[in-house]
Amino acid sequence: MNHQPFEEWLLLDKNLTPAETRELDLHLRTCTHCTALSATGLALRSAPVVAPAAGFTLRFQQRLAAQKIAERRRKLWGMIVLLLSGVGLLGWLTAPYLFAFFSAPVEWVTAAIGYFLFVVTSLQALTEVMAVLLRMVTEFIPPYIWMVLVSALAGLGLLWTISIWQFSRTPQGVSA
Ligand SMILES: [Zn+2]
Repeated sequence: MNHQPFEEWLLLDKNLTPAETRELDLHLRTCTHCTALSATGLALRSAPVVAPAAGFTLRFQQRLAAQKIAERRRKLWGMIVLLLSGVGLLGWLTAPYLFAFFSAPVEWVTAAIGYFLFVVTSLQALTEVMAVLLRMVTEFIPPYIWMVLVSALAGLGLLWTISIWQFSRTPQGVSA
């Protein structure tokens, strides 16, 4: 079916003469395509175009700023809640010890000092043991073995350095 010129009339929203209107009416009775087009045009023309109310941009910006402030406040409150719950949990965990401490401070202080002394003396004993062991090892192993060990280590280090140097020197790609 030929939709011209009716399609063009409908799309361009042309002012029609009475003869053209009759012609269009006749075509629309038989053509669903142009009827749909005409209906769409009518719907579009009847749809009210709402102009933004005065000060729309300003209000939008204000609302955006308010939302940002609200979000910041929410974050702050979240942090406060987190901090308080953390402190509460810490207090709940340490409360028994604090109670014990305040009910018998002297015992606790002496216990703490005793523990501290125990740690210090243990560390001292440990370092002494280590020193003795080290001295034993150095006395046990003869000097020439030390020399062999040191030179072996030095040789290994040298080998390692050379291998890395060789590796990094390896030409990339094909060379003549
Ligand atoms: Zn048509």
